[in-house]
Amino acid sequence: MALSRREVIWGASAAALGACGRRAPAPGSYVNVYSARHYDADRALFAAFEEATGVAVRVLPANAEQFTERLRAEGDATEADLIVAADAGNLWRMKDAGLLANTTSPALESGVPARLRDPDGAYWGFTKRARVIIFNDQALEPADVATYDALAEARFRGKIVARSSTNVYQLSTLASRIERLGAGNARTWAAAVRANFARDPQGSDTDQIKAVAAGEAHATLCNHYYYLRLARSEDPAERDVASKVGLVFPDQTGAGTHINISGAGIAAHAKRPERALQLLEYLVSDAAQTMLAPLNDEFPIRPSIAPAPELAALGAFQEEDIPLDALGRHQAEAARIFEEVGWR
Ligand code: FE
Repeated sequence: MALSRREVIWGASAAALGACGRRAPAPGSYVNVYSARHYDADRALFAAFEEATGVAVRVLPANAEQFTERLRAEGDATEADLIVAADAGNLWRMKDAGLLANTTSPALESGVPARLRDPDGAYWGFTKRARVIIFNDQALEPADVATYDALAEARFRGKIVARSSTNVYQLSTLASRIERLGAGNARTWAAAVRANFARDPQGSDTDQIKAVAAGEAHATLCNHYYYLRLARSEDPAERDVASKVGLVFPDQTGAGTHINISGAGIAAHAKRPERALQLLEYLVSDAAQTMLAPLNDEFPIRPSIAPAPELAALGAFQEEDIPLDALGRHQAEAARIFEEVGWR
């Protein structure tokens, strides 16, 4: 059977996973997902959704910037139904560009805590990630880096590494500070952290952890799952990196650790909006959350679902309590501040 171009482009996840024993989706019953997440856990979830509903999930992978451009270019001709991306900052940008449809339902309202979704219903969190501090455990004790403010102290001159401020994780981290403490405070903090850099910003979150483990710096910021991936790696060199650093959930006696989400929203011009909603509701359902937890390096969206044992072992922690749409609203100002203080 010859494949049409579209079938080639849209990787049917059932085919990718092998469809053994699974109920065949009804002909023509499918939903198209633009996903910026490329995790085995997501593929397993989509396969479970197919099995439960008979609706095939067709995934087009790319990064969030590529989707934004593509959705803009496609306009109302798009075949995208559900958009999946990491970081509320990315999802907010898509909403701001008019690419997401506002939606709600009782299942979404009860499944996703209010601060972990867009107030208008343009995007809904389905996993959580924490912005933690990683420190060199030969050089420091956890108490030395108990707060984000610690990274700005003069005693860490030449001891901090950070990735570029063009990365959305950094923008969201600073946006959360703008939301809680104001732009003046955020600027002072960013300038002081910048003054502590051991090198110009370069590389990924994982690269920052490696620099700290190697003693090139004493501490850095990263999303918690990058540490877990190293700690659980099959590569002994990566496990060795993890063994040389410690992880702190900052601000436990203050505002709590900065939290972000992976989330999803229905495309503004979805051709199958009811199936997109069905899949979105599935992502936050008890069944999906319970299935996702042990496969995923992130936290379930609700505290009632237990995280993976490796995550639970990091300990309970207090989360920052701000509405996540603030990360989008303050994004432009965060970028301006980073630029002004020379954190490029
Ligand atoms: Fe990431």
